[in-house]
Amino acid sequence: MIKVTCLGAAGSVTGSNYLIENSQGKKVLVDCGLFQGGKEMELRNWHNWGFDPSQIHTLFLTHAHIDHSGRIPKLVKDGFRGKIITSPPTAELCQIMLLDSAHVQEMDAEWQTKKDKRKNKKETLPLYTTKDAAESLQYLSPIERDQIITVEPGIKARLRNAGHILGSSIVELWIEEANEEVKIVFSGDLGKQNQLIVKDPYEIFAADYLFIESTYGNRVHRPFEDSKEELLEAIRYALSHEEKVIIPAFALERTQEILYLLGEFYRDKTLPDIPIYLDSPLAIKATQIFRKNKKYYDEQARAIVDHGFDPFDMPNLHFTPTTEESISINEKPGSAIIIAASGMCTAGRIKHHLKHNLWRPGASIIVVGFQAQGTTGRKIVDGEKQVKIFREDVAVKAKVFTIGGFSAHADQKDLLEWVSHFTEPRPKVFVVHGEATASEALATVIREKLGMEVHVPKWKESLLLKAKKVVRKEIPAEVIPIEISQTMLNKVIDLEHEIERLKKLLKKKDEKATISEEDVNRLEYIQEELQGIIPE
Ligand SMILES: [Zn+2]
Repeated sequence: MIKVTCLGAAGSVTGSNYLIENSQGKKVLVDCGLFQGGKEMELRNWHNWGFDPSQIHTLFLTHAHIDHSGRIPKLVKDGFRGKIITSPPTAELCQIMLLDSAHVQEMDAEWQTKKDKRKNKKETLPLYTTKDAAESLQYLSPIERDQIITVEPGIKARLRNAGHILGSSIVELWIEEANEEVKIVFSGDLGKQNQLIVKDPYEIFAADYLFIESTYGNRVHRPFEDSKEELLEAIRYALSHEEKVIIPAFALERTQEILYLLGEFYRDKTLPDIPIYLDSPLAIKATQIFRKNKKYYDEQARAIVDHGFDPFDMPNLHFTPTTEESISINEKPGSAIIIAASGMCTAGRIKHHLKHNLWRPGASIIVVGFQAQGTTGRKIVDGEKQVKIFREDVAVKAKVFTIGGFSAHADQKDLLEWVSHFTEPRPKVFVVHGEATASEALATVIREKLGMEVHVPKWKESLLLKAKKVVRKEIPAEVIPIEISQTMLNKVIDLEHEIERLKKLLKKKDEKATISEEDVNRLEYIQEELQGIIPE
């Protein structure tokens, strides 16, 4: 029997960490993220792992966001010496993300120690240091997605594009168990359809068990075009009051998406004449990595490059890596767009910008990312009249624009659609990576609309997965290479949709008049062609 223990991102959105064990005692991990959002949640980072890190030979890392990767330095510090299997852009992004995370840990510990000294308490140590983070990077073992690899005898894996951020992956795992094989799919964070910059999530058709994220399992994003219009409106609002536009953004992905959109406005000539500051050393570095990794762009982003533009650049854009440059932004009068991290307003330069601008009527605060419970960002979104920044009460007088359409996460509709691609026999579904209400809501719609068996695991819950003695209706891989067969299956699904559409039209009375005998002949021809594609 295979055991999966949900050691993070179960009942919450952070701390992603799943332990998979087979009956021979082989153990692998999927993700090793930091718990974030409030003191209680962050304390979990210090708990026992629930396994011995030195016994783990493989960690699959879905993507570089800290809530999925941020405990890797601690894992290595505590004895992990195996391989971290991940995509090449994720490995590259981890280099900057983990060092930055270590720096934050060190700063927090230093601040806490200073505070405690007055109370005669002992020194607080960081969760890990910059040295630990640098040390851990040597275990990153990048592989290109879409190829099946054997990580140890009896355990095979493949990464697929998850369409969430640059390099983000779904993990497909095949584990041998008593002469049978169990296939487990971990969705990681899934992107939405038509996500900017990266390609849409890969559709998977077969699995015995599926672990799916549910960050927005109870929400449907507003249409993207509306969100773009709201972004322009928020910029114009502050500009008309000669105030600043503050965008708290995650350094990785959300920032690049905002730059990408501002670039689009600039090329369309809809962007007002206003200076733009990217005020985050980490976001600046991440943007450089995005610029380097063009081969992972989707068609639209590639087209911009082919037309001779950099999708993340415009003449008014200024990078402000140093503290002096950052401080000088608020000293300059007049309007400006300031993009700064952290995305949930809990740390970093954004706190300074909020302190300077949150109380100013006429300023715009644009919230473009998920705000976890307990964070300053969540309080602003929830309409609190006053928030604490650097232990000072600051009134919220600026206009808050919450623009949901920029999420890098699939919404309920996208998640349901992605799950619906699994063919019979359908997998048992475990809904993870969501706050309880979001996970439960997604579980309910999957049960009701797709008739699948669903469970929402609790934090630290262990699940026993039986091998299923069923033969899957997959096109055999040895007959047709896997890539082509998947593409083919996609086409068949498209055809099914087209046939459904035709059926609906034919049932409507008035449409029948437009059908000719020639159409019937064409359909007959298509049917004959179809029969010849894969001979029995
Ligand atoms: Zn993520």
